[in-house]
Amino acid sequence: MPQSTRPIIEMKGVSKTYRTRDGDVPSLKPIDFTINEGEFLVVVGPSGCGKSTLLKMVAGLLPPSTGEIRVQGKVIVQPHSGVGVVFQQPLLLPWRSVFSNVMMPVEVKGLDKDVYGKRAHELLEMAGLKDFARKYPWQLSGGMQQRASICRALVHDPKIVLMDEPFGALDAMTREKMNVELQRIQRATGKTVLFITHSIPEAVFLADRVMVMSERPGTIAAVYDVELERPRTLDVMADPRFVALTQKIRHHFYAHGGLD
Ligand code: ADP
Ligand code: MG
Repeated sequence: MPQSTRPIIEMKGVSKTYRTRDGDVPSLKPIDFTINEGEFLVVVGPSGCGKSTLLKMVAGLLPPSTGEIRVQGKVIVQPHSGVGVVFQQPLLLPWRSVFSNVMMPVEVKGLDKDVYGKRAHELLEMAGLKDFARKYPWQLSGGMQQRASICRALVHDPKIVLMDEPFGALDAMTREKMNVELQRIQRATGKTVLFITHSIPEAVFLADRVMVMSERPGTIAAVYDVELERPRTLDVMADPRFVALTQKIRHHFYAHGGLD
């Protein structure tokens, strides 16, 4: 789906300083940034630079210390239903079936169970989990559980999906497959995605634009357009443009000995 130039997430002077008993922890310097509708925006940066903090503020789970975040034009002051969130761990409830886990946002929001139940089944099919709807999380591999958690984030049809290192706990091969899968889902649904990672190849593979963050307190070190055609296959990683961009991004971190 083509992306527009209509802003959907706008950050103006957004910063975060955690106030703790041991003093203030400045985590994010003021950030100005706009994400457009349908865009796949990936944030990459070293551990502790404020990536999760930024995502939580966009989700409305954490108030900024300064500045303002608007999602679809509205200032965010509390958690809101316009986003679906995927965390590093799938966080599925073990006593619920896969289908029932995916349906949780529908229950929480009191949406029509028939309408959205149908949608849950469609998503599970799209994620290759059609035959696992009645299984329990422990009967699924880590990659399958994470795919189920992505279905859960999409079931209520949010325009925006926020993903915080969702594939960080997976082995390298599963992770690559998930990247291909996620690209396919995003293209099929036209969602706006804000995706966080500390893997540079993952960032370049997925992104329309990559935002590179500096060390804590984080700030925007650079923003790169990824000009690689879609759909991208894993072979794109051998493309000279892919190699050049990953190198360029890596150079931001050489002085500190790389990421993590
Ligand atoms: P990242 O996701 O990039 O690894 P985080 O956003 O989780 O980084 O954290 C950024 C910085 O803020 C870190 O240095 C961390 O120690 C600090 N931090 C995060 N959460 C809290 C908190 N609740 N209280 C105090 N400091 C925090
Ligand atoms: Mg984090």
